[in-house]
Amino acid sequence: MAVSEFDIIERFFRRNSTQREDVVLGIGDDAALLQLPADRQLVVAMDTLVAGRHFLPQAAAFDIGWKALAVNLSDLAAMGAEPAWATLSLTIPAADEVWLEGFANGFFQLAEHYHVDLVGGDTTRGPLSVTVQVHGLVEPGKALRRSAARAGQQLFVTGTLGDAACALQALQADHAPDPDLLRRLNRPQPRLDFGLALAGTGAAAIDISDGLLADLGHILDASQCGATLWVDRLPCSPGLETIQDIDVTACQLYGGDDYELCFSVDADQAERLSNLGQQQQLSITAIGVIESQTGIRCTHNDGSLYTPHGTGFDHFRDTADG
Ligand code: ADP
Ligand code: MG
Repeated sequence: MAVSEFDIIERFFRRNSTQREDVVLGIGDDAALLQLPADRQLVVAMDTLVAGRHFLPQAAAFDIGWKALAVNLSDLAAMGAEPAWATLSLTIPAADEVWLEGFANGFFQLAEHYHVDLVGGDTTRGPLSVTVQVHGLVEPGKALRRSAARAGQQLFVTGTLGDAACALQALQADHAPDPDLLRRLNRPQPRLDFGLALAGTGAAAIDISDGLLADLGHILDASQCGATLWVDRLPCSPGLETIQDIDVTACQLYGGDDYELCFSVDADQAERLSNLGQQQQLSITAIGVIESQTGIRCTHNDGSLYTPHGTGFDHFRDTADG
């Protein structure tokens, strides 16, 4: 590499962007020193993005930087945690300064928005791969767990589903995706504010990264219950509604990369939460009910069963007839 590893860290990553007071020692020593509040639990999550697997080779550096942090913050949102710090392990094939600049700009734009400090990491040479670890804080007892769903609760989802999957399908078919849908794929918005609002409500929550059916399945497995899912009521963006020749419901059920929150709460919380969503300009949609019978039953508005089909059917662990 023309520039040294030290130069890369100094020039692109040692920004001390938000200068949080709880960062006693950030980038530059052998490890970071972080001051934890006495009355909070530490919430830790890590996700890796591998070139060719989690993003296409033509993806912009800015988008990769943004998304690497966003998918991690989305995990904190699903725990009801407030984000605080991040570490970054970056493996790059070469010290391409234009690429590094774009990557750092994407990463820090999101980091600054949520007041997250990058406090350390590692930089190595090899096939492009990005690992981010995030650290958040939550009041003891208030974290959102997958195992908290109970029969009788209503099932909700934030925002809209299927945009990212639709954009990815277009890219893979060498078509130009609708720009709004592509933005959902490249710049996911972690639902941190809504996750914080859910904290302490006893809701079961998960962020949708692998598709609604797969991720809802994780809540149901952890909670040892099942659900009826109303497939005709899944929230759809105006952009996705206009797309022709595509199975919208399949994108919504099996498509990944939405990074919306799926959660279940007692029915008496529904109105308050949807008002809260409105304040945050985030739609909250009821999409089904939790039941004691295991498995996911997908139904149409008229009560008839929806038969799963199309790509991603393999994700469907429990079939419609239970
Ligand atoms: P060491 O050899 O002690 O592991 P490094 O040279 O790997 O030290 O890292 C030096 C400092 O730079 C450390 O504080 C480390 O956390 C930080 N660092 C290295 N790479 C990154 C990166 N990609 N992003 C943020 N901080 C980094
Ligand atoms: Mg190191």
